[in-house]
Amino acid sequence: MAAEARSRYELSRAGLAELLGDQPSYRVDQVWRGLYERCCELSELTDVPRPLRARLSSEPALHRALSPVSTSSSDAGATVKWLWELADGVRVETVLMHYPGRSTVCVSTQAGCAMACGFCATGQAGFTRNLRTGEIVEQVALAAREARAAGRRLSNVVFMGMGEPLANYEPVWSAVERLHGELGLSARHLTLSTVGLVPGIDRLAGERLPVNLAVSLHAANDALRSCLVPINRRYPIGALMEACGRYRAERGRRLSFEWALIDAVNDRPSDAAELAGLARPLGAHVNLIPLNPTPGYPTVGSPRHRVVAFRDQLNHLGVNATIRQNRGTAIDAACGQLAARAGSQPVALASRTPRPAARLAQWPSAGGPTTPSPRPSRSP
Ligand code: SAH
Repeated sequence: MAAEARSRYELSRAGLAELLGDQPSYRVDQVWRGLYERCCELSELTDVPRPLRARLSSEPALHRALSPVSTSSSDAGATVKWLWELADGVRVETVLMHYPGRSTVCVSTQAGCAMACGFCATGQAGFTRNLRTGEIVEQVALAAREARAAGRRLSNVVFMGMGEPLANYEPVWSAVERLHGELGLSARHLTLSTVGLVPGIDRLAGERLPVNLAVSLHAANDALRSCLVPINRRYPIGALMEACGRYRAERGRRLSFEWALIDAVNDRPSDAAELAGLARPLGAHVNLIPLNPTPGYPTVGSPRHRVVAFRDQLNHLGVNATIRQNRGTAIDAACGQLAARAGSQPVALASRTPRPAARLAQWPSAGGPTTPSPRPSRSP
């Protein structure tokens, strides 16, 4: 496939009509519905005459952009993860998770990421390029197709895969509009997750569709957050909280803070108290997840008892907090992990070695982090 090949999901409805200019409009409708309502392959458009199907299949604008490199499944099929290769050879991931009553897909918005959060596998790999609208929508369409095959309906999309959605604003927002308008997903069921790009949050507040906003906070003071999330130096916590307040006031949508609990770094009672001080005035929900181990980061996730204690303290302080299931750990279904494993430098997570002490010394946590404890078991 040529490097500039685009996804069939890049085309607008008008673009498809133009492409099929010699066809009656009901044919255009059939193809469009096939792509968006049934999420089917062109060969499965059985309501379209065979010669037209053949023509559609040879039409470059109707190619698929994502080729599967690998598909893995865990939790007895409740979590499915794909590693895709795009036309130019870059790789991105998509994860589908079935829960009681809902099925959620986590999509990538960039190949790699420029935000350089040290604990994130994608951040460690660096930035390659922005995804186009069609490449994002195609991830959702393929997940919706997989969900249908499992007798489920895809209900939720979280923009929490590889990349920073607000650093690729226009294509991401076009994807949101397409998912809402054509795949029929309600804005309430779409969640954008950001590292905290203040101008992007403000821009989002002015959009027509009120999507949910998740902010990856991870630390509630600037000294620690600037270490964990370098962009905090540009948009410190005060400015970020003000933007969150404006978003909430403007959109009335649920705001959540993501908090990856890192052993002895951000899981102390003082961290919970500081976090409560930020979350409570904004009515923000806190999602806690024990840090997933990644090859380039020395510390591990908090042990279960400290995760529970952290949640209980937040609840006690009047903040809604839930512990996110660590879905798909066995298949590396955490941000960027599969791509990191399948990349040019294969990483044996089991033999991960701690970073030098110089890096550890950057943490301003009281007494510094503990010596990395043995990595949690990756068995299912
Ligand atoms: N750039 C966006 C979305 C992608 S990351 C953002 O920062 O929100 C999706 C979520 O996974 C973020 O909350 C991110 O901080 C978190 N994350 C990244 N690496 C992780 C790890 N090793 N363990 C747990 N959560 C991680």
